[in-house]
Parts: sequence; structure tokens; C-alpha cells
Amino acid sequence: MKFKINLVTQIFIAFVLAIILGSVFGSSIDFLKPFGDLFLRLIKFIIAPLILSTLVVGVASTTDPKQLGRIGFKTIGYYLVTTALAIVIGLSVAFIISPGKGLSVSSDGLVAPEIATQEPQSPITTLLNIVPDNPFTSLANGSILQIIFFALFLGLAITLVGEKAKPVYAFFEGFAEVMYKITGIVMKVAPIGVLGLLAPVVGQYGPAVLLPLLKVILAVYIACLLHALIVYSTAVKTFANMSPKKFFTGISPAALVAFSTASSAGTLPMTIKNTNENLGVPKKITSFVLPLGATINMDGTAIYQGVAVIFIAQFYSLELSFMQLLTVVLITILASIGTAGVPGAGMIMLAMVLTSVNMPLEGIALIAGIDRVLDMMRTSVNVVGDASAAVVVAGTEKASDYK
Ligand code: ASP
Repeated sequence: MKFKINLVTQIFIAFVLAIILGSVFGSSIDFLKPFGDLFLRLIKFIIAPLILSTLVVGVASTTDPKQLGRIGFKTIGYYLVTTALAIVIGLSVAFIISPGKGLSVSSDGLVAPEIATQEPQSPITTLLNIVPDNPFTSLANGSILQIIFFALFLGLAITLVGEKAKPVYAFFEGFAEVMYKITGIVMKVAPIGVLGLLAPVVGQYGPAVLLPLLKVILAVYIACLLHALIVYSTAVKTFANMSPKKFFTGISPAALVAFSTASSAGTLPMTIKNTNENLGVPKKITSFVLPLGATINMDGTAIYQGVAVIFIAQFYSLELSFMQLLTVVLITILASIGTAGVPGAGMIMLAMVLTSVNMPLEGIALIAGIDRVLDMMRTSVNVVGDASAAVVVAGTEKASDYK
């Protein structure tokens, strides 16, 4: 008799196994790393052609330009509102847990590696950068927003040209199917990838690294869970009448891959697949909402930045005025939009938030040592947040193939 375990269960088993192996064998589990790296490369190589082909088809198959505008408007509105809620939840939980009180500058475990604080871009430059000067360079560099811009334009132009552009449309349609197929094949090895990515991380972070900053970790994790359980459950139930259980189960493989890779851009193929197949959102919607979300919607990152600001303020005994807190909320929204979906990006953007309220940038070094542990959780929430947007948009659009 052939014994078959479904992919979700397989990934979950790999997840638990990684934690056990990492804890037991410590850094000697590093030999599994190449498997993780291989998986990471496999999912990264899918991203640019997948976004391009599926989005072109998504746009060109929507004959009603009004619907396109409406979907865009809803998506961005949802992203902004949920991100704002995320920061408020992050700040509130941090106030209650007070992670920075009672720590002294010489506390063990706070010696962090040098961090490269790159100058964050100004919002205007970020906006201008959406328009590629060469779309092929964007594809080669994997600049997601630029690829989205190019694909939107291509799709629109195909619709406008009509008859003569039919072969172009047919090409992208076939190309998109091929990319979905490749995604499906790569996802079959996801359990091995999760094991290879996660076990070395668990092995590296023994209790000695984590304990001094346990409260920061707790604050970020609790706030992330609260945000997902309250905001996303309410949203999918209200706008799409989907049970939260179905939603969280359906997106859990992508959430676990996000946890292991700490990259929402890297998880994108998985997010698209889960949202299509397990949550029943049509490709027309996922192909627009999810790549955009992987680039600009980062609720987990916003939560993390909120907690980090409070932690650093408490650590240096700084009082934050109401105006400063308001500034933090606004700048964090911008910072999370500007954060790239790659590991550690949220920490670099924290510099922008701290600068806006004149807080010491050295504060970042305090939590840099545990960034990966925080990053895993915030990336999962980033990805689950994107999927919730797709469900909400599909629910309110009553898209034909959406049940
Ligand atoms: N790693 C996160 C992501 O890919 C971004 C961050 O560092 O906050 O979504």
C-alpha cells in the first residue's frame, strides 16, 4: 500500500524536525544548509518570469478597465489600513510587555555584530524607481515593483491593440501556465528546503543568544499572532465569508516557508499557489495583489519596527511624546512600504524610523544579534497579510470563479 502525506503535513513535519535537530545538534547541523540554499535558489528563479507572465495575462484578460482600477484601489487601501493597525498593535503590546526596562548597556548577549546601516531612500526616489528605465534590466535584477509596472503596461497595451496583439497574449498565457507548472514541481521539494533552511538557524541560536532579549522576542511574536488572529480573521470573515480556520490552514504552507526563508519575495510562488488552490482566489486577482503585497505590504515588519522603537526608547530611558508616536506610525508605514522582501531588510529600514524621532541609531545594534529570529516571524505575517488581501478583494469582487 502506498502511503501518501499531503504537502502541508510534510512541511509541518520538516518544520518540527528542523527545530528538534537544530536544538539537539547545535551548529553541527550546518551540513544541511546546502539543501536550504538549493531550495531558495529554486524559488527565486521562478519569481521574475512568474510575475511577468501571470500579471500580463491577468490585466489583459480583464476587459473592464473599471474593474482593474477598483481592484487596485481596494488592494492598496487594504494594505494601508492593515499596516496602520499592525503598528498600533506592535506599539501597544510593547508598552505592556516593556521589553527594554531593566536591561543595562553591559548586559550579556547584547554585543551585536557590526551592522551596515545603509542610507534609506527618500519616498520620492522610491516612487520614481517604480518606473524602469530598462524593463529587461528590471527582469534581470528581479526588481518586483518595476516588473509589475512593465507587466501592467504590457497587459493594458495588449487590450488596447486588440486583434493584432492576440499572438502576444497567447504567448503569455502559455508562458504563465508553464510557470505555474514549474512552481508546482519546485514546491514538491519544499519540505527538504524548510529543513535545510531552518535547522541551521535553530542550531545557531542557542538559549545564550536568545535569553537576554527574550522579552523583545515575546513582544514581537505575541503582537504578530494577535494581529493575524484579530485583523485577518475579521477581514476574511467579513468580506469573503471565509472561516478563519480555512484561511489559516490554506495559507500555512506559505507561512512556514516564509518563516524558514525570512523572505516574502522568495515565498511569493508558494503564496500564489496556496492562495489559488487552497483559498480559491482566481489567478486574475492573485497575480496582481500578491506580487504587489510582497513588495509593499509588510504588516509583520511594521509590528517589529513598532516594538523596536519602544524597546530602544526604554533601553535609553527616552520618553516619547504623543507627536513622536504619531510620527513613528506614519514613518513606519512608509518604511514598511519601502522594505524589500528579503531577509534583514526591515532592520535596515528601522534606521529611517529612528532618525525621524531623533533616536540613537546604535539602538539597532542591540537587537541585530537576534534579528533573524524576529525576521522569521515578521515575514510569516507579511505573507499571510498579502494572502488575506487577495481573499478580501476576491470576496468583494465576487469574481466569477470564486466560491
Ligand atoms: N524579511 C522580511 C520580508 O521578506 C522583511 C523584513 O526584514 O522585515 O518580508
